[in-house]
Amino acid sequence: ADKRTALIAGNWKMNLDHLQATVVVQKLDWTLRDKRHDFEAVEVAVIPPFTDLRSVQTLIDGDKLKLKLGAQDLSPHDEGAYTGDIAGVFLRKLGCTYVVVGHSERREHHQETDEVVASKVKAAYKNDLTPILCVGEPLEVRKEGRQVEHVLAQLRAALDGVPASQAESIVIAYEPVWAIGTGEVATPQDAQEVCAAIRGELANLYDAKLADGVRVLYGGSVKSGNVASIMAEQDVDGALVGGASLDPAEFAAIARFQ
Ligand code: PEP
Repeated sequence: ADKRTALIAGNWKMNLDHLQATVVVQKLDWTLRDKRHDFEAVEVAVIPPFTDLRSVQTLIDGDKLKLKLGAQDLSPHDEGAYTGDIAGVFLRKLGCTYVVVGHSERREHHQETDEVVASKVKAAYKNDLTPILCVGEPLEVRKEGRQVEHVLAQLRAALDGVPASQAESIVIAYEPVWAIGTGEVATPQDAQEVCAAIRGELANLYDAKLADGVRVLYGGSVKSGNVASIMAEQDVDGALVGGASLDPAEFAAIARFQ
């Protein structure tokens, strides 16, 4: 993982309104600055609800924070009669660098299929956003020992038709569904097994050089107390953090895993 810039990304899910968001982001920034955090070594991103993006963007711009901004989803369409959806271009104009695509909660509660996820990956690139593509197996699949097969099928489907010139910048987040929000964290070996398989599949689909440069994150009940052992694994380049990213002191401690 040494040659790739680590990324610690906080997915707030549907938590913190735009007023609370300004408090959390400033506390996060103060804490990281106070510790003289090296943002070039460990990139830190916050991924708030859509309605918070403007307030957070204002702080990031106005205060020259080095934090990156991301969104939790985007529409596969450019614009038009899609009530309630958010276009990639809107996110880009609000200063987003990243957009989460295919989170298991979207797949589950909004019936997002692999095809929908693939169309969102394409929409992200079209609008100059870097997708954080989430893949991961449910508990039944893990119990049958078919986690690698399951995750690689999701990966191939999401990258269908994506050229190397785009795929080289993708971020993949391996998030076993049974470890999300459950307090049940995968062992570092579990994380490494699947993250290495993802990298291997990227080498098959594209080439070894591309695979070597892509960042593969782990997500699922990451906390300051377990992040270091997961980050020590060779093919784990960062973490997508849900619950623990809502507390700025805890999230800063996760970003300071080294
Ligand atoms: C997530 O939803 O991306 C996640 C990893 O959540 P948590 O850290 O709360 O398990």
